Amino acid sequence: MKCWYCEEDARACCTFCGRFVCKDHYKPMSSFLAIYVGANNTPKALAVANVIWCGECEPQPEPIAMPELY
Ligand SMILES: [Zn+2]
Repeated sequence: MKCWYCEEDARACCTFCGRFVCKDHYKPMSSFLAIYVGANNTPKALAVANVIWCGECEPQPEPIAMPELY
């Protein structure tokens, strides 16, 4: 598989969208594995730093309402 940006062999796949990128074109990003409500009704998240991000896709910072599903 080739890099999304150049013709170099890809080294990784974007965590968010699946595009392949080489070592020169990846960007680090944080991601969540899970979010849950813990003790004392406190929301908690299991996060991972420095996951592979292609820099092209746009992970959204807020949930998107989808009322048409109901
Ligand atoms: Zn991506």
